Amino acid sequence: MKTRFIALIFMSLTSVVMWAWGPKGHDVVAEIASRHISKKTAARIDKILDGKSMVYYASWMDGIKGIPEYKHTYSWHFLNVDPGFTYETAPKDPRGDVYNKTLAIIDTLKAGGLTAKKEKDLVRFLIHMVGDMHCPMHAGYARDLGGNRVQVMWFDTPSNLHSVWDSKLIESARAWSYREWADNIDVKDKEEVARMMSGDVALWRDDILSRVGSCYDAVPADGRLGYPYINAFTDDVEYFLLMGGLHLAKILDEIYK
Ligand SMILES: [Zn+2]
Repeated sequence: MKTRFIALIFMSLTSVVMWAWGPKGHDVVAEIASRHISKKTAARIDKILDGKSMVYYASWMDGIKGIPEYKHTYSWHFLNVDPGFTYETAPKDPRGDVYNKTLAIIDTLKAGGLTAKKEKDLVRFLIHMVGDMHCPMHAGYARDLGGNRVQVMWFDTPSNLHSVWDSKLIESARAWSYREWADNIDVKDKEEVARMMSGDVALWRDDILSRVGSCYDAVPADGRLGYPYINAFTDDVEYFLLMGGLHLAKILDEIYK
């Protein structure tokens, strides 16, 4: 057991390609969403998730990657668009991506008539995927696998740009719990929240895509990232997490209103 545990740690440390906000990012998105859904939606979600919270399942989709039943969802965590392309003109992953599979899941849930197990799976996918869609390196360039191939030094530790955005920025910027993140960034007034919730999934996707370039451009030639990078992207990290939470709430309300 101990050997297996050590092997798992080794694998996670040496894994080359990562595709996920870290658990903290997903927890924050799910927590914020749970604060903005209607009472009716909350009651439906509570039933679908057997009394567990949205936060409880926020990273569930990352944990099932090795299970054969869910193998087909591997590419649903991201989309990749190289410079010079839009989402529409970029080559598509035939397995589906975080955008078109999110739309498909919304349609399936709206149509209804699902088994309890199927509906629970799709809601858990949605909670996670809307979070991933708001992580900029999940909408990163195809040529570097969403920043996975952009080698950087995070303070004194070798890393890559994808990993920096998934977890290092969040974990290094604050020592907050997911609730403290939500308490501190979900503070906009009603009008601003309504403005941030306006539009649709395609508009939100393009908003994120329009911000990806600056995440790359701010990496200095020597690849050394630390406090200046944290400082430069504090507002963006908060924006992405808050937008993810608000957009997830809007999607769930539209399905279960
Ligand atoms: Zn993911």
